[in-house]
Amino acid sequence: MTTNATLAATTTLAEATSEHTDGYHLVVGALALNDIRTIYGVVGIPITDLARIAQASGMRYIGFRHESDAGHAAAAAGFLTRKPGICLTVSAPGFLNGLVALANATTNCFPMVQISGSSERHIVDLKRGDYEELDQLAAAERFAKAAYRVNRVEDIGRGIARAIRTAVSGRPGGVYLDIPAAVLGEVVDAAAGAASLRRVIDPAPRQLPAPEAVDRAIAMLADAQRPLVVFGKGAAYAQADEQIREFIDTTGLPFLPMSMAKGLLPDNHPQSAAAARSLALRRADVVMLVGARLNWLLGHGEPPQFNPETTFIQVDIEPAELDSNQPIAAPLVGDIGSVMGAFVERIEPGRITAPAVWRQELAARSAQNSAKMTQRLDADPHPMQFHGALRAVRDVLRVHPHAYVVNEGANALDIARNVIDMHVPRHRLDSGTWGVMGIGMGYAIAAAVESGSPVVAIEGDSAFGFSGMELETICRYRLPVVVLVLNNGGVYRGDGVNTASADPSPTTLMCRAHHDRLIEAFGGTGYRATTPAELTAALTDALASGRPALVDCVIDPRDGTESGHLTHLNPTGVGHR
Ligand code: ADP
Repeated sequence: MTTNATLAATTTLAEATSEHTDGYHLVVGALALNDIRTIYGVVGIPITDLARIAQASGMRYIGFRHESDAGHAAAAAGFLTRKPGICLTVSAPGFLNGLVALANATTNCFPMVQISGSSERHIVDLKRGDYEELDQLAAAERFAKAAYRVNRVEDIGRGIARAIRTAVSGRPGGVYLDIPAAVLGEVVDAAAGAASLRRVIDPAPRQLPAPEAVDRAIAMLADAQRPLVVFGKGAAYAQADEQIREFIDTTGLPFLPMSMAKGLLPDNHPQSAAAARSLALRRADVVMLVGARLNWLLGHGEPPQFNPETTFIQVDIEPAELDSNQPIAAPLVGDIGSVMGAFVERIEPGRITAPAVWRQELAARSAQNSAKMTQRLDADPHPMQFHGALRAVRDVLRVHPHAYVVNEGANALDIARNVIDMHVPRHRLDSGTWGVMGIGMGYAIAAAVESGSPVVAIEGDSAFGFSGMELETICRYRLPVVVLVLNNGGVYRGDGVNTASADPSPTTLMCRAHHDRLIEAFGGTGYRATTPAELTAALTDALASGRPALVDCVIDPRDGTESGHLTHLNPTGVGHR
């Protein structure tokens, strides 16, 4: 137990009364005992006092405008820190709003705990019609890694310990913890209450791979003609940066980062095959997946994205993930730090190399693709288009490599992912495994709160709308977040036409909306940019100020592809205009 945690736990308990305490204080004490320093939430019955008591104990409470944003913030905090992010919600509707984020966290393998107050069990279970009546435990069960309920005040310490252990051990995920109002309010003897709290020891123990499993993978890599390593966000989460760097340096293997693994090794690393991504995946004969799943984001490992002859090595903490799509010839179950460390230890010098012909093939394609990209980025059409705007953002961010980047949208996501280089691990947070919209402000707030560093949220105008009200939260807590709204006036694009009636088309949003004025309502700084030069000036100024800011980037409404890079997932296979 750290001194701070001890102090916090003792203080909160002492605050109740010297002889008695209650469920609220025990929840806060249990979290403090496990080094939880921040709670993200929305208050209301029955958890308002929980937030107050947490603040009084020295813990940070960040209050949101919508539970889903608070939940996304907790999930991002979990990804960034490897400790479960805590989201606090009220009963029934607030709980359900938070559940979206809990499910998203579970899908992304981010550790978080949603703690929700709930209504009277004896009324809810007989469906007698209580205030905010819902069987929350049953509802959460399907969407979380696990769901628990604390029915007795003396079980609060046990419940929180169990939730924390479950969230971070093995494959991380979202855990739901239901605490009925009656349990929160229950008064108990202070000494007995304090004794019931638990500190979880080694919540995510190392999991070492078997040496023969490592040797099997080494033999495959040694025989490969066109080997490729793919890093996913599990590798970023694992914080095994040193072992990963050493593995890549020792072997010389080319690698591809999935979007949230960008920066694990700098995007300008000479072995990065990112600029030749399609060719690298299609031509590789041995692909080693490190904390990346062969899901839709990798075309399920099938042609045309992959060569049908490809053999796979997969490093993952979750054994059931292996063989979920393609047969895995060399499975390595363990935590990424231990597995990559074992590789470095067991590879004989010179045994694994990247054949020169393969390196040259990738380098030639990278040079070709980079030249094409430079041409697109340097064209300066007016009105401004996505590429021109993002070139300006890229150039400013090169001077701020420690700024966190949050990114969501369709075109705004697809293009920014390719254009904005990352140089530092775990500094990019995006739509993730579901390709979800609405994570923007929650992720941005968590990145700023957890790191204290500047955050730049690159948002499509449609995506921004899902969490835009959190601008008030950003301003209230004076967070160094700059929101860039790439505003082309629509979902995908802003030139949709409704030929059936006078209503706007389904993809149309308010053309030429001034999002900059939204943040001004809360005391932040609004900018409007119609050219890359104006965007450069606005972003530079906003980052220098360290204050909340929003830049409305006026993009040509005709620029953008329906469904972005996912047009093939539209049942008709085409975008409508
Ligand atoms: P991406 O979308 O970037 O390809 P995924 O979310 O699909 O990444 O995959 C992440 C994988 O990493 C999951 O299968 C998860 O089980 C795994 N993982 C998470 N943490 C660890 C860890 N510490 N060690 C090993 N594997 C991990």
